[in-house]
Amino acid sequence: MASPALQPVRGTRDLIGEEHRRHHRVIDTARRATALYGFEEWATPVFEDTRVFARSLGDTSDVVTKEMYSFTDRGGDSVTLRPENTAGICRALVSNGLTQSNLPRKVFYAGPMFRYERPQKGRYRQFHQIGAEILGAAEPLADAEVIAAGWDILTRLGISDGVVLEINTLGDAESRDAYRAALVAHFTAHRDALSDDSRVRLEKNPLRILDSKDEGDRRIVATAPTIEPHLTPAAAAFFDAVLRHLATLGVPTRKNPRIVRGLDYYSHTAFEFVTDRLGAQGTVMAGGRYDGLVEEMGGPPTPSVGWAAGVERLAMLLSASPAAPRPVAVIPVGEAQEDAALGLVQRLRAAGVVAEIAYKGNLKRRMERANKLSARAALILGEAEAAAGVVQLRDLDAGTQDSVAIDEAIRRLSA
Ligand code: ATP
Ligand code: MG
Repeated sequence: MASPALQPVRGTRDLIGEEHRRHHRVIDTARRATALYGFEEWATPVFEDTRVFARSLGDTSDVVTKEMYSFTDRGGDSVTLRPENTAGICRALVSNGLTQSNLPRKVFYAGPMFRYERPQKGRYRQFHQIGAEILGAAEPLADAEVIAAGWDILTRLGISDGVVLEINTLGDAESRDAYRAALVAHFTAHRDALSDDSRVRLEKNPLRILDSKDEGDRRIVATAPTIEPHLTPAAAAFFDAVLRHLATLGVPTRKNPRIVRGLDYYSHTAFEFVTDRLGAQGTVMAGGRYDGLVEEMGGPPTPSVGWAAGVERLAMLLSASPAAPRPVAVIPVGEAQEDAALGLVQRLRAAGVVAEIAYKGNLKRRMERANKLSARAALILGEAEAAAGVVQLRDLDAGTQDSVAIDEAIRRLSA
């Protein structure tokens, strides 16, 4: 008896056909755009020592408290499937001894991330992110440039129209201390109405409450003070410079004082690219400045700024699906011509032409296979053709066919 078919684990998905092509389009576009800004691509392991995330994301973040895939491996070490990649990149900077040379470093990455979440549209347990980080740059120009690279990707994908950059500042330590006191006063006055999670945040990291998704919390957040009156002149000047550079770069911005980002260690700039076209999962790209993170990994002070974007959400926004390439079908008439056809199909591929050879069947069968593949042309190779060094070139869109020299056929098809 056949075994029951197995299913993918809840919250995971197979990427096949059109879906994979959409993902590929997003990642390929991001890779090429960031390369133009001088980002180099890094790949870090998909699992890390659990402390890499516990230290960096903070013990009040949703990710650390509820969403991490952590387990003890056979050697007794606690490891975690990465829920995001910024911590891994900072860990890699330190582990590879790169904190002293060639700063700033501009790093791009793309790959799967893992969070134990309630799966819904645009929210999965294995999902994919692209991201960009500028490590070792304290200047507002770095914030502006990394954001501009993100905007450039959205533009190249043709989806920037429906997306807005919401931006805020979390100031420097002095501004944040003053702001934290104002927030504690506000939230303490509404303590009884806060969610359990937010009462914990009130003790540990009150700024986090601004990021709460709880309905009741959101009503209290709506009347909370903003940071602006608490900014030091230096922090205000930093934010102004970022906004001015973004205006120069042509990136449209909307100030939103509620943007704090879900993770600890942010300072100064915090931002999200949001759309109203994806329902509740409307944030497609998010990031900010994280000046303390590399130190947390055991490195020297290394002010840095970056963002991460959800590939699934960007892929959903693409208006048109990238088409599968249309091959040229090489068709041997009879088994005796198969080796000659095999030689021809390899010459086409060497010339950069997507080419296929059907493995079996008579002329009719192999033509049917060519049509199934949406081939744009067929090259039919019979005994007489092989002897004369020619081939029948059939244009499958126009329905025309001529006998041409093999070199000429390759030349035409690769044009
Ligand atoms: P959200 O508020 O949607 O939970 P987040 O603040 O947890 O987002 P980040 O940690 O900033 O998200 O991750 C950056 C981006 O990665 C998000 O803006 C989103 O596009 C994407 N992302 C995050 N979690 C998921 C997920 N579970 N499934 C798909 N995409 C995700
Ligand atoms: Mg989340």
